[in-house]
Amino acid sequence: MAVLTVGSIALDNIKTQTEEHTGLLGGSASYASVSASFFDRVNLVGIVGSDFPKQHIQLFQERQIDLSGLQIVEGKTFHWAGQYEADMNKRHTLHTELNVFETFTPSLPPSYRGTPIILLGNISPALQIHVLNQIERADFVIADTMDLWITTTRPDLLELLKRIDLLVLNDSEARQLTEDENLVRAGRKILDLGPKYVSIKKGEHGCLLLSRTEFFSCGAYPVEQLKDPTGAGDTFAGGLAGYLASLQKSQITFADLKRATVHGSILASFCVESFSLERLKILSRNELNQRYAFFRAMSHFDE
Ligand code: AMP
Repeated sequence: MAVLTVGSIALDNIKTQTEEHTGLLGGSASYASVSASFFDRVNLVGIVGSDFPKQHIQLFQERQIDLSGLQIVEGKTFHWAGQYEADMNKRHTLHTELNVFETFTPSLPPSYRGTPIILLGNISPALQIHVLNQIERADFVIADTMDLWITTTRPDLLELLKRIDLLVLNDSEARQLTEDENLVRAGRKILDLGPKYVSIKKGEHGCLLLSRTEFFSCGAYPVEQLKDPTGAGDTFAGGLAGYLASLQKSQITFADLKRATVHGSILASFCVESFSLERLKILSRNELNQRYAFFRAMSHFDE
Protein backbone atom coordinates (compact mmCIF):
# COMPACT_ATOMS: atom_id res chain seq x y z
CA MET A 1 0.00 0.00 0.00
CA ALA A 2 1.06 3.64 -0.18
CA VAL A 3 -0.12 7.16 0.58
CA LEU A 4 -0.30 10.00 -1.90
CA THR A 5 0.29 13.40 -0.30
CA VAL A 6 -0.23 16.71 -2.03
CA GLY A 7 0.18 20.17 -0.52
CA SER A 8 2.59 23.03 -0.07
CA ILE A 9 6.35 22.64 0.24
CA ALA A 10 7.68 25.78 1.82
CA LEU A 11 10.59 27.74 3.18
CA ASP A 12 9.27 29.24 6.44
CA ASN A 13 10.39 32.04 8.76
CA ILE A 14 9.14 31.43 12.28
CA LYS A 15 9.24 33.64 15.34
CA THR A 16 8.27 32.50 18.84
CA GLN A 17 8.66 34.51 22.07
CA THR A 18 12.16 33.09 22.55
CA GLU A 19 13.53 32.10 19.13
CA GLU A 20 13.52 33.18 15.52
CA HIS A 21 14.50 31.02 12.52
CA THR A 22 14.53 31.70 8.79
CA GLY A 23 14.51 29.48 5.71
CA LEU A 24 13.12 26.44 7.51
CA LEU A 25 11.69 23.48 5.63
CA GLY A 26 7.90 23.71 5.98
CA GLY A 27 4.65 23.30 4.09
CA SER A 28 1.74 20.92 4.53
CA ALA A 29 3.11 18.26 2.17
CA SER A 30 6.58 18.25 3.77
CA TYR A 31 5.22 17.59 7.25
CA ALA A 32 2.57 15.13 6.06
CA SER A 33 4.84 13.05 3.86
CA VAL A 34 7.67 12.73 6.38
CA SER A 35 5.11 11.79 9.05
CA ALA A 36 3.39 9.20 6.83
CA SER A 37 6.76 7.72 5.88
CA PHE A 38 7.08 6.26 9.39
CA PHE A 39 4.37 3.76 8.42
CA ASP A 40 4.37 3.21 4.65
CA ARG A 41 5.56 4.31 1.22
CA VAL A 42 4.71 7.88 0.25
CA ASN A 43 4.09 9.38 -3.20
CA LEU A 44 4.69 13.12 -2.90
CA VAL A 45 3.04 15.68 -5.19
CA GLY A 46 4.26 19.28 -4.93
CA ILE A 47 6.32 22.08 -6.40
CA VAL A 48 9.52 23.88 -5.35
CA GLY A 49 11.72 26.54 -6.94
CA SER A 50 15.34 26.37 -8.02
CA ASP A 51 16.34 27.87 -4.63
CA PHE A 52 15.09 24.80 -2.71
CA PRO A 53 18.06 23.45 -0.69
CA LYS A 54 19.37 20.02 -1.71
CA GLN A 55 19.50 18.88 1.92
CA HIS A 56 15.68 18.99 2.04
CA ILE A 57 15.44 16.81 -1.06
CA GLN A 58 17.89 14.46 0.64
CA LEU A 59 15.66 14.27 3.71
CA PHE A 60 12.71 13.18 1.55
CA GLN A 61 14.96 10.62 -0.16
CA GLU A 62 16.28 9.27 3.15
CA ARG A 63 12.66 8.72 4.22
CA GLN A 64 12.14 6.70 0.98
CA ILE A 65 9.56 9.22 -0.27
CA ASP A 66 8.84 8.87 -4.00
CA LEU A 67 9.65 12.22 -5.62
CA SER A 68 8.52 11.53 -9.20
CA GLY A 69 5.56 13.86 -8.55
CA LEU A 70 7.75 16.71 -7.28
CA GLN A 71 8.13 19.55 -9.80
CA ILE A 72 11.36 21.59 -9.49
CA VAL A 73 10.98 24.74 -11.59
CA GLU A 74 12.85 27.99 -12.18
CA GLY A 75 11.91 30.58 -9.55
CA LYS A 76 11.45 30.87 -5.79
CA THR A 77 9.88 28.29 -3.47
CA PHE A 78 6.62 29.12 -1.64
CA HIS A 79 7.49 31.21 1.42
CA TRP A 80 5.50 31.72 4.61
CA ALA A 81 6.35 33.70 7.74
CA GLY A 82 4.50 33.42 11.02
CA GLN A 83 4.77 34.58 14.60
CA TYR A 84 3.46 32.99 17.81
CA GLU A 85 2.20 34.74 20.92
CA ALA A 86 3.20 33.49 24.40
CA ASP A 87 0.05 31.36 24.16
CA MET A 88 1.19 29.27 21.23
CA ASN A 89 -2.39 28.57 20.17
CA LYS A 90 -2.30 32.12 18.85
CA ARG A 91 -0.44 32.55 15.57
CA HIS A 92 -0.19 35.47 13.17
CA THR A 93 0.77 35.14 9.53
CA LEU A 94 3.36 37.85 8.80
CA HIS A 95 3.47 37.21 5.09
CA THR A 96 2.87 34.64 2.37
CA GLU A 97 4.70 34.62 -0.97
CA LEU A 98 3.18 32.10 -3.35
CA ASN A 99 6.09 32.26 -5.83
CA VAL A 100 6.19 29.01 -7.91
CA PHE A 101 3.07 27.80 -6.07
CA GLU A 102 1.03 30.46 -7.89
CA THR A 103 1.06 28.48 -11.16
CA PHE A 104 1.07 25.00 -9.59
CA THR A 105 -1.07 22.51 -11.49
CA PRO A 106 -0.49 19.11 -9.94
CA SER A 107 0.03 16.46 -12.56
CA LEU A 108 0.19 12.90 -11.28
CA PRO A 109 2.77 10.49 -12.72
CA PRO A 110 0.99 7.33 -14.01
CA SER A 111 2.62 5.28 -11.22
CA TYR A 112 0.76 7.40 -8.60
CA ARG A 113 -2.75 7.05 -10.07
CA GLY A 114 -3.68 3.85 -8.25
CA THR A 115 -2.44 4.95 -4.79
CA PRO A 116 -5.01 3.57 -2.31
CA ILE A 117 -4.83 6.22 0.45
CA ILE A 118 -4.99 9.86 -0.65
CA LEU A 119 -4.16 12.79 1.61
CA LEU A 120 -5.20 16.10 0.06
CA GLY A 121 -3.19 18.54 2.17
CA ASN A 122 -4.02 22.15 2.66
CA ILE A 123 -4.15 23.70 -0.82
CA SER A 124 -7.11 25.27 -2.63
CA PRO A 125 -10.12 22.92 -2.96
CA ALA A 126 -9.98 23.40 -6.75
CA LEU A 127 -6.46 21.93 -6.79
CA GLN A 128 -7.52 19.15 -4.40
CA ILE A 129 -10.34 18.25 -6.83
CA HIS A 130 -7.90 18.44 -9.74
CA VAL A 131 -5.72 15.80 -8.02
CA LEU A 132 -8.72 13.62 -7.20
CA ASN A 133 -9.81 13.70 -10.85
CA GLN A 134 -6.53 12.03 -11.81
CA ILE A 135 -6.92 9.14 -9.36
CA GLU A 136 -8.15 5.92 -10.92
CA ARG A 137 -9.24 4.21 -7.75
CA ALA A 138 -8.76 5.08 -4.10
CA ASP A 139 -9.75 3.16 -0.98
CA PHE A 140 -9.82 6.18 1.30
CA VAL A 141 -9.58 9.93 0.65
CA ILE A 142 -8.65 12.41 3.39
CA ALA A 143 -8.72 16.18 2.97
CA ASP A 144 -7.43 19.00 5.13
CA THR A 145 -8.60 22.60 4.77
CA MET A 146 -8.21 26.04 6.35
CA ASP A 147 -10.16 29.23 7.11
CA LEU A 148 -8.95 30.88 3.87
CA TRP A 149 -10.75 28.32 1.67
CA ILE A 150 -13.88 28.30 3.83
CA THR A 151 -14.22 32.04 3.23
CA THR A 152 -12.90 32.49 -0.30
CA THR A 153 -13.76 29.26 -2.18
CA ARG A 154 -16.68 27.77 -0.30
CA PRO A 155 -18.52 26.34 -3.37
CA ASP A 156 -15.36 24.40 -4.39
CA LEU A 157 -14.94 23.16 -0.84
CA LEU A 158 -18.56 21.95 -0.71
CA GLU A 159 -18.01 20.07 -3.99
CA LEU A 160 -14.86 18.46 -2.56
CA LEU A 161 -16.67 17.36 0.61
CA LYS A 162 -19.01 15.18 -1.44
CA ARG A 163 -16.02 13.21 -2.76
CA ILE A 164 -13.97 12.44 0.36
CA ASP A 165 -14.12 9.94 3.22
CA LEU A 166 -12.58 12.03 6.01
CA LEU A 167 -12.30 15.79 6.54
CA VAL A 168 -9.62 16.95 8.98
CA LEU A 169 -9.92 20.51 10.28
CA ASN A 170 -9.43 22.45 13.50
CA ASP A 171 -12.12 23.54 15.94
CA SER A 172 -12.35 27.16 14.79
CA GLU A 173 -12.60 26.04 11.15
CA ALA A 174 -15.38 23.56 12.01
CA ARG A 175 -17.30 26.37 13.73
CA GLN A 176 -16.69 28.69 10.78
CA LEU A 177 -17.78 26.12 8.19
CA THR A 178 -21.03 25.23 9.97
CA GLU A 179 -21.76 28.46 11.87
CA ASP A 180 -22.29 26.32 14.97
CA GLU A 181 -20.32 26.89 18.20
CA ASN A 182 -20.99 23.36 19.51
CA LEU A 183 -18.31 21.05 18.12
CA VAL A 184 -20.37 17.86 18.20
CA ARG A 185 -23.22 19.54 16.31
CA ALA A 186 -20.68 21.16 13.96
CA GLY A 187 -19.21 17.71 13.29
CA ARG A 188 -22.65 16.29 12.49
CA LYS A 189 -23.34 19.18 10.12
CA ILE A 190 -20.05 18.48 8.32
CA LEU A 191 -21.05 14.81 7.90
CA ASP A 192 -24.30 16.04 6.32
CA LEU A 193 -22.16 17.80 3.70
CA GLY A 194 -20.70 14.50 2.44
CA PRO A 195 -17.73 12.92 4.25
CA LYS A 196 -18.24 9.63 6.12
CA TYR A 197 -15.98 10.83 8.95
CA VAL A 198 -14.76 14.12 10.38
CA SER A 199 -11.78 14.75 12.64
CA ILE A 200 -11.89 18.02 14.57
CA LYS A 201 -8.51 19.00 16.04
CA LYS A 202 -8.41 20.97 19.29
CA GLY A 203 -4.67 21.77 19.48
CA GLU A 204 -3.18 20.80 22.83
CA HIS A 205 -6.58 19.37 23.86
CA GLY A 206 -6.60 16.51 21.38
CA CYS A 207 -9.27 15.83 18.79
CA LEU A 208 -12.76 14.46 18.15
CA LEU A 209 -13.51 11.80 15.55
CA LEU A 210 -17.12 11.40 14.42
CA SER A 211 -19.08 9.18 12.07
CA ARG A 212 -22.87 9.24 11.80
CA THR A 213 -23.14 6.59 14.52
CA GLU A 214 -19.83 6.65 16.43
CA PHE A 215 -17.72 9.05 18.45
CA PHE A 216 -14.11 9.00 19.71
CA SER A 217 -12.36 11.61 21.80
CA CYS A 218 -8.55 11.38 21.61
CA GLY A 219 -6.49 13.16 24.25
CA ALA A 220 -3.23 14.90 23.37
CA TYR A 221 0.16 13.78 24.63
CA PRO A 222 1.23 16.16 27.44
CA VAL A 223 4.14 17.87 25.70
CA GLU A 224 6.49 19.75 28.02
CA GLN A 225 9.02 20.90 25.42
CA LEU A 226 6.67 22.85 23.14
CA LYS A 227 8.98 24.77 20.78
CA ASP A 228 7.03 25.35 17.56
CA PRO A 229 3.50 24.10 16.78
CA THR A 230 3.88 24.77 13.02
CA GLY A 231 2.91 21.73 10.99
CA ALA A 232 1.34 19.80 13.87
CA GLY A 233 -1.94 19.45 11.95
CA ASP A 234 -0.22 18.25 8.77
CA THR A 235 1.94 15.83 10.76
CA PHE A 236 -1.22 14.51 12.45
CA ALA A 237 -2.95 13.95 9.09
CA GLY A 238 0.18 12.38 7.58
CA GLY A 239 0.63 9.94 10.48
CA LEU A 240 -3.06 9.03 10.34
CA ALA A 241 -2.92 8.41 6.57
CA GLY A 242 0.36 6.47 6.75
CA TYR A 243 -1.00 4.22 9.48
CA LEU A 244 -4.17 3.50 7.44
CA ALA A 245 -2.01 2.54 4.45
CA SER A 246 0.07 0.20 6.60
CA LEU A 247 -3.10 -1.77 7.50
CA GLN A 248 -3.34 -2.90 3.85
CA LYS A 249 -7.15 -2.97 4.02
CA SER A 250 -9.52 -1.78 1.33
CA GLN A 251 -12.36 -1.29 3.87
CA ILE A 252 -11.39 1.09 6.66
CA THR A 253 -13.46 0.77 9.86
CA PHE A 254 -14.10 3.23 12.69
CA ALA A 255 -11.82 1.11 14.95
CA ASP A 256 -9.01 1.49 12.35
CA LEU A 257 -9.57 5.24 12.33
CA LYS A 258 -9.39 5.42 16.12
CA ARG A 259 -5.95 3.77 16.11
CA ALA A 260 -4.88 5.94 13.16
CA THR A 261 -5.94 9.03 15.15
CA VAL A 262 -3.73 7.96 18.06
CA HIS A 263 -0.77 7.40 15.72
CA GLY A 264 -1.32 10.82 14.10
CA SER A 265 -1.46 12.45 17.54
CA ILE A 266 1.81 10.79 18.56
CA LEU A 267 3.61 12.03 15.46
CA ALA A 268 2.23 15.54 16.04
CA SER A 269 3.44 15.48 19.66
CA PHE A 270 7.01 14.91 18.43
CA CYS A 271 6.71 17.52 15.65
CA VAL A 272 6.07 20.39 18.09
CA GLU A 273 9.15 19.60 20.17
CA SER A 274 11.39 21.36 17.64
CA PHE A 275 11.29 23.86 14.79
CA SER A 276 10.56 22.58 11.30
CA LEU A 277 11.06 18.80 10.89
CA GLU A 278 14.12 18.59 13.15
CA ARG A 279 12.51 16.30 15.73
CA LEU A 280 10.84 14.06 13.13
CA LYS A 281 14.22 13.68 11.36
CA ILE A 282 15.74 11.93 14.38
CA LEU A 283 12.62 10.15 15.63
CA SER A 284 13.08 6.41 16.25
CA ARG A 285 10.60 3.54 16.09
CA ASN A 286 11.30 2.87 19.76
CA GLU A 287 10.25 6.41 20.75
CA LEU A 288 7.03 6.01 18.74
CA ASN A 289 6.27 2.74 20.51
CA GLN A 290 6.89 4.26 23.93
CA ARG A 291 4.41 7.07 23.27
CA TYR A 292 1.88 4.60 21.91
CA ALA A 293 2.14 2.64 25.19
CA PHE A 294 1.66 5.91 27.08
CA PHE A 295 -1.51 6.67 25.06
CA ARG A 296 -2.90 3.22 25.82
CA ALA A 297 -2.23 3.63 29.53
CA MET A 298 -3.69 7.17 29.48
CA SER A 299 -6.98 5.95 28.04
CA HIS A 300 -7.46 3.09 30.53
CA PHE A 301 -9.16 3.48 33.88
CA ASP A 302 -10.40 1.16 36.66
CA GLU A 303 -14.10 0.54 37.15
P1 AMP B 1 -0.06 24.18 10.09
O1 AMP B 1 0.75 24.61 11.27
O2 AMP B 1 -0.51 22.76 10.17
O3 AMP B 1 -1.16 25.15 9.79
O4 AMP B 1 0.91 24.21 8.81
C1 AMP B 1 1.88 25.19 8.68
C2 AMP B 1 2.52 25.09 7.31
O5 AMP B 1 1.56 25.49 6.31
C3 AMP B 1 3.70 26.01 7.19
O6 AMP B 1 4.90 25.25 7.08
C4 AMP B 1 3.42 26.86 5.96
O7 AMP B 1 4.49 26.87 5.05
C5 AMP B 1 2.20 26.24 5.31
N1 AMP B 1 1.22 27.26 4.84
C6 AMP B 1 0.92 28.45 5.40
N2 AMP B 1 -0.04 29.10 4.68
C7 AMP B 1 -0.34 28.30 3.63
C8 AMP B 1 -1.25 28.40 2.51
N3 AMP B 1 -2.04 29.48 2.32
N4 AMP B 1 -1.31 27.37 1.64
C9 AMP B 1 -0.54 26.28 1.83
N5 AMP B 1 0.34 26.13 2.83
C10 AMP B 1 0.45 27.12 3.74
